[in-house]
Amino acid sequence: MAAPFRSLVEDYPRYLKSFELFLERSSEHQCMQDFIHNTLPDILASIGGGRSIFNVMGGGSGAGEIDLGMLAQLHLKHPHVKVDNEVVEPSNDMLHKYKVRVSTTPDLDHINFEWNKMTASEFEKHWQQKNPGKKMDFIHMIQMLYYVTDPEATVSFFRSLLHKDGKLLIILVSGESGWGKLWTTFKKQLCNTEISQCVTTGDIKTFLDTEGIPYQNYELLSQMDITESGQAELSREKSLGERGKEEPKDHFGALLDLLRHPDCSKEVNGRIIFNNNLGVLVVEP
Ligand code: SAH
Repeated sequence: MAAPFRSLVEDYPRYLKSFELFLERSSEHQCMQDFIHNTLPDILASIGGGRSIFNVMGGGSGAGEIDLGMLAQLHLKHPHVKVDNEVVEPSNDMLHKYKVRVSTTPDLDHINFEWNKMTASEFEKHWQQKNPGKKMDFIHMIQMLYYVTDPEATVSFFRSLLHKDGKLLIILVSGESGWGKLWTTFKKQLCNTEISQCVTTGDIKTFLDTEGIPYQNYELLSQMDITESGQAELSREKSLGERGKEEPKDHFGALLDLLRHPDCSKEVNGRIIFNNNLGVLVVEP
């Protein structure tokens, strides 16, 4: 059965455009960069076991902005260490942007970039054939687990690659965010595609707790201005998909109402500010 709201994932050029607009209009990357500067350094200090080369992997790296921020902090904490950095990213456009960024960023000579133009599950197969037994020091999956069919299995696989002092960093929208409220309320309309799509750190925490896997959890405050109709369009498109032709008006109207409801948004100086809070999970091996 067709999803009542068509997912943007089915229209990649439109997805890319929406994602860029979303980054522009939200504090998404700013709150991540704050975390990377203020909290991540202490986490990175504990990894590596004194080795001279660290193995790092980024799943769903996008254009690499956040990845390079983390790699810079890693270098500050471990200035004499070389880094093998596996970039796992299925989009040509994103990989291209990442490569351009690398070519224009100074002080990256200590890093060897391996470009893997593939999905996380393709990488899993590829890795098992190419590098069975190879262990990783730091793996991150930032805003990526929405795109896999089984986020828990993906977490388990990548966690299994960690050295005993390695760390797996996951960022997704928080279960307490406006997205969490929206996805719980409109689960049937929004979350019935083949990928997980509507997963939050709340879901991953439930999985980790059930499995008895240790982790630390941080909440990052983030917001998105949805005042302009363009912004309402954007939030609709980012995660909800376009309005399907067959979608009855009442679902769509109810959804727009919820976007502006206090559960999801607040009014600040006459602007409608959507709760885009993120959750960070630092998972132990
Ligand atoms: N981590 C970046 C980009 C997040 S957007 C940031 O936070 O800014 C999600 C990224 O995941 C996109 O670049 C998209 O191309 C990529 N992606 C989509 N499906 C994927 C999959 N199955 N496996 C790995 N990455 C995927």
